[in-house]
Order: sequence, then structure tokens, then C-alpha cells
Amino acid sequence: NFPLEGKTAFVTGGASGIGAAIAEAFTEKGVRVAVVDLDEAAAKARADSLEGAIAIGCNVADPASVQKAADRAKAELGRIDILVNSAGIAALAPAEDISFDFWKRTIDVNLTGSFLVAQAIGRIMIEQGGGRIINLASQAGSVAIDEHVAYCSSKFGVLGLTKCLAIEWGECGINVNSISPTVVLTELGKNAWAGEKGEKAIAQIPVGRFAEPCEIAAAAVFLASEGAAMFNGADLIIDGGYTIK
Ligand code: NAD
Repeated sequence: NFPLEGKTAFVTGGASGIGAAIAEAFTEKGVRVAVVDLDEAAAKARADSLEGAIAIGCNVADPASVQKAADRAKAELGRIDILVNSAGIAALAPAEDISFDFWKRTIDVNLTGSFLVAQAIGRIMIEQGGGRIINLASQAGSVAIDEHVAYCSSKFGVLGLTKCLAIEWGECGINVNSISPTVVLTELGKNAWAGEKGEKAIAQIPVGRFAEPCEIAAAAVFLASEGAAMFNGADLIIDGGYTIK
């Protein structure tokens, strides 16, 4: 049992899906959480439902917005012990059909956004002498998936980002790791995997089902805890065996 009581966290994408489940799991452990999201109203609704949480509107793809959010979280929470980069988007299409905007937006939010937030919060963590960073990658960060060229590229990038930050900031007391889930039927997951396509995807997963948000949150709680002090640059794959086939 590794307590998190009294710690603080900055959770991007915290208004919905996996980020929302992580924010909830953290607050249940006594963590004060900044629920950070592009959808400020949804972030506020989420934060209001959680003990000790605050809401911050932020576009992770915009450096000025990220800096403002980091400054506000530091001012309101005092320090930031844990960062979870869960903000993300998925738009799927055949490679030959995707537009420049489609490509750029996916990379901007999923990869550049994760870097910008890690840099802004990382600077705070370096100054305070340590912290934990947890990036949401994906099974699509380890294997190629049809019609996922932009998404896969962004998530392969998130794994590279995680490993590079892990070696640069390890000596600063900051552990940087990632979590790679299989499909979770959040807003994002439902848009990509509803219906027959989803049934086919489930057939490829040895345990025969998709993952639940609380199963991803459990891994985030572990990575944020003292029990994970030797995890640095690691990727926790939570995919029921999908990527080992
Ligand atoms: P979701 O759509 O339920 O939530 C994503 C949240 O990110 C939303 O609240 C959205 O408003 C926010 N967001 C989007 N763009 C943003 C921006 N520019 N700035 C700030 N916030 C922004 O999605 P989810 O399923 O919870 O996904 C969370 C993370 O997990 C994503 O990085 C996703 O790629 C990853 N992931 C999801 C699945 C899945 O199947 N759901 C699988 C593997 C990895």
C-alpha cells in the first residue's frame, strides 16, 4: 500500500474518459487534482464532482495556454507532484485521403501537446526537486493499425518523448513513464471502434474484451506511487495481449 495522500496532480484531458477516471482515482486517494481540459465547462463539472479538485481550461496544443494553465495550477495547488498527459484526439482515415490539417491536428494535440505540457510542468518539478509524469500512449504506439497513420505516428512519438524525458530528468527526481491501453469505450474509443469494426477488434484481443477506464486509472495510481520509484521510461501495456500476437 503506497499512499498518495496530500499529493497534487495536473491531469490533461481530465474532463472525459480515461483522464476523468484517473482524476477520480487520484482524488479517492487524497490527491488534489487540477482537471485540465479544452472543454472548460466539462472540466468544471468533473472537478465539482470530485473532492478537492479544481478545473482549468487549456488547449494543450497552444504553448501560451499551457503556460497559463501550469502557472495557475502551481499558484492554486502550491506544487505539482504528478502530471498525466491524457488529452488526445483520434480521427481515422486511409493514409491516401488524409488532409494536411487532419495530420497536423493529430500530431499537434497528441504529441506536441504532451511535450508542451511536460516541459511546462517539468520545469516546475525540476525546481521542486522531483515528480512523476505519466503519458497516455496507446497500443497504436507499438503496432501499426489500419487507418491510424496520423494517430499511430503521434503515439509512437509519445513513446519516444517518454524515453527521452526519462533519461534527461531521471537525475532531477522525475520519473517519466507511459501507459498504452487497448481500446476503451470512451468518447474517443466509441468514435473509432463502434459497431462491427469493434467486434472484429475484440476478436483480436486474447482476453476477449476492451479495457475499462478504471483499469487504466489503476495503472496511473501505481505509476504515481512510491512503489513505482524504479520505473523510468517504461511503458505499461494494458491490452489484454493484443500487441504480443
Ligand atoms: P476522450 O475523448 O474521452 O477524452 C479526451 C479529452 O481530451 C476530452 O475531454 C477532450 O476535451 C480533451 N482534449 C482534446 N483536445 C484537447 C486539447 N487540445 N487540449 C486540452 N484537452 C483536449 O478520450 P480518452 O479515450 O479518454 O483518451 C485519453 C487518452 O488516452 C488519449 O491520449 C488517447 O489517445 C489515449 N488512448 C485512448 C484509447 C481509447 O480507446 N479510448 C486507447 C489508447 C489510448
